[in-house]
Amino acid sequence: MALLEVKNLKMVYTTRLGGNKVQALEDVNFTVEQGEYVAIMGESGSGKTTLLNIMASLDKPTGGQVILAGKNMADIKQKELCAFRRDNLGFVFQDFNLLDSLSLKDNIFLPLVLAGSRVEEMEKRLESLAGKLGIRDILGKYPYEVSGGQRQRVALGRAMVREPEVFLLDEPLSNLDAKLRTEMRSRISALHKELQTTFVYVTHDQTEAMTMADRIVVMKDGVIQQTDTPSALYNHPANMFVAGFIGTPQMNFIYAAVEKNGEKINLIFTDGRIGVPARMEQMLSACIGKNIVLGIRPEDFHFESAYRSEADTNSITLISENCEMTGSEINIYSHIGENKIIARVASDSKIEDGERVTIYADINKIHIFDKDSGELICD
Ligand code: ADP
Ligand code: MG
Repeated sequence: MALLEVKNLKMVYTTRLGGNKVQALEDVNFTVEQGEYVAIMGESGSGKTTLLNIMASLDKPTGGQVILAGKNMADIKQKELCAFRRDNLGFVFQDFNLLDSLSLKDNIFLPLVLAGSRVEEMEKRLESLAGKLGIRDILGKYPYEVSGGQRQRVALGRAMVREPEVFLLDEPLSNLDAKLRTEMRSRISALHKELQTTFVYVTHDQTEAMTMADRIVVMKDGVIQQTDTPSALYNHPANMFVAGFIGTPQMNFIYAAVEKNGEKINLIFTDGRIGVPARMEQMLSACIGKNIVLGIRPEDFHFESAYRSEADTNSITLISENCEMTGSEINIYSHIGENKIIARVASDSKIEDGERVTIYADINKIHIFDKDSGELICD
């Protein structure tokens, strides 16, 4: 049995002004295993905080349930709820929530004092945590005397010192600058490995989700788009939203028609055509004569003629509109018909603006989406 089960969760807010209804969550279902690191990822307004607040029983859903270790959280009596939360859940919020009137050490100890823990036990736990979080030397200071990154580490320490069953983190790094975020990413990942506790981590940042999580729940407008491992989301996105959300530069989408050419199936677009791998032929034979969206990541184009397929079913000719050196690679900006595209190819020489170049698509890595629904047809 999973440690956490989120079942058919629904949340409709009624705004105070005007009484309008806002559907923040729509039939949300997923599970979290003991020790797993699950990221909830989506743009601002997609329902992430609503979901986390309900998981923390800080808010009641309009429908559905959250089950923690077999216990339906809706069945916990109001007067037991505080103690249940304190014993089982650790929160870290975006804005730290430290008390300015207490030293950092007392900020960390406060939840333990409230839980009635003994002083020796507190000292021991803090001793081991402070080193890992790099906050040992600042514990005597007050929140306003230290940097944002240090305050955030203290907030993490405060949640972790209680050794809860589950950590719920809501965009804990979004107030930090880029360099600190990278550093905190690896600290949090290392802590997760060591503590082997369960993490539910809300973020709008795909790099955070992709580098830290075992599995990612991708949300849009209160609806889960896909729940999968980072590599499955990257290699097999379930729809165009997930495909475009994960990966930078983002996946190219090219409107194309499916045509039969002798025994083979081709994808035809303005000024070009490519073949498809044999495994897609059957699925695509149902789409002959139809328009689809071809998805191909910038990094799945190649420059060297060694990538040209035997029957030359994968070459595309482009006019480079702009070319960006990134070191060992270049990004070629161009258009295929109306579709803007970026090809990231290995090369150490710049391509002139207006130059005509032939690149080769790795047809084994293409994705075909339904033009209307955006759902994956095959990849
Ligand atoms: P996220 O954390 O992904 O940015 P939220 O969960 O905060 O998204 O919000 C999801 C949607 O619910 C948004 O449209 C937001 O405006 C709305 N919402 C959130 N909280 C309330 C509230 N208390 N009353 C009314 N609408 C709300
Ligand atoms: Mg939020």
